[in-house]
Amino acid sequence: MNKNDQYTMQDPTKQYPAMDIPEQTQPEPGLDAKLQPKADHGEVTYRGSGRLKGRKALITGGDSGIGRAVAIAYAREGADVVINYLPVEEKDARETIRLCEMAGVKVVAYPGDISYEPFCNELIEATVKELGSIDILVNNAGKQVYVADIAELTTEQLEKTFATNIFAMFWLSKAALKHMPAGSTIVNTASIQAYQPSEGLLDYASTKAAIVAFTHGLAKQVAPKGIRVNAVAPGPIWTPLQPSYGQPQEKLVKFGQNTPMGRPGQPAEVAPAFVFLASQESSYTTGEVIGVTGGNHLP
Ligand code: NAD
Ligand code: MG
Repeated sequence: MNKNDQYTMQDPTKQYPAMDIPEQTQPEPGLDAKLQPKADHGEVTYRGSGRLKGRKALITGGDSGIGRAVAIAYAREGADVVINYLPVEEKDARETIRLCEMAGVKVVAYPGDISYEPFCNELIEATVKELGSIDILVNNAGKQVYVADIAELTTEQLEKTFATNIFAMFWLSKAALKHMPAGSTIVNTASIQAYQPSEGLLDYASTKAAIVAFTHGLAKQVAPKGIRVNAVAPGPIWTPLQPSYGQPQEKLVKFGQNTPMGRPGQPAEVAPAFVFLASQESSYTTGEVIGVTGGNHLP
């Protein structure tokens, strides 16, 4: 595991050991607490420097994986954060909250299912009430279930994947924009799957392509208001999404090996892109998608 902060120069191919991933399955959504081997969310390594001081952020799927790494990074950069997750993920959420609170910012847990529009509205109103305002929305929650053959893809799964990954993004953005002052940012989690879909992730990849189009279009719509909208498109990142039916076992044990880097990425390596896109440093960047793919570039 990397022992240095994110600024220390080193060979990125060796920054994390090539992972020996054992076969494993968890019910959906997976828990970080049961992930083997452990992922790195920057717990020991992320060094903040006030880049988001005083900002107010909502992070969906903030309990684990990429969302946890973003929550830790935002808290250490000085932002107050609300994290949303599913109630069954309370154990992971508690760990994220503990880590964020150590940064001395306000941290609020607001569990609930974003695949329902009324809850999305409630979540935004609760964020504004708890933090006083909202100026960063990170649409990061996602559902990914591998189905090898379209004949086996149920309408129930299709609808739930679309509701979670893309409808919620519309509902949350719509509700948040009513409150967002100029200078606010929305950062969406897309995926390399938007551009290079796997044969068994038809529904998931289609939502990710929709997220890219949504990001491009909404950015143009709200640019005159001084609000920016961007996306991060990760490649293979080691999170509980993958062993909870996100990949078949034969792909899981080789996860990330088919990248030029030769290894999967860690959530800690994705978070800095979310910090850049949320902060004023990226003032002239909107409608953009940043790939964090280990070399299997976009599109
Ligand atoms: P993760 O399982 O740690 O995070 C996904 C989170 O989504 C869960 O923690 C859960 O809280 C949340 N979620 C799912 N359904 C929800 C619902 N109905 N209501 C509220 N929350 C819900 O896995 P992750 O890999 O960190 O995923 C985060 C994002 O990154 C997702 O959008 C995923 O598609 C995307 N992504 C992941 C990878 C990867 O390789 N891990 C690659 C590209 C994109
Ligand atoms: Mg989780």
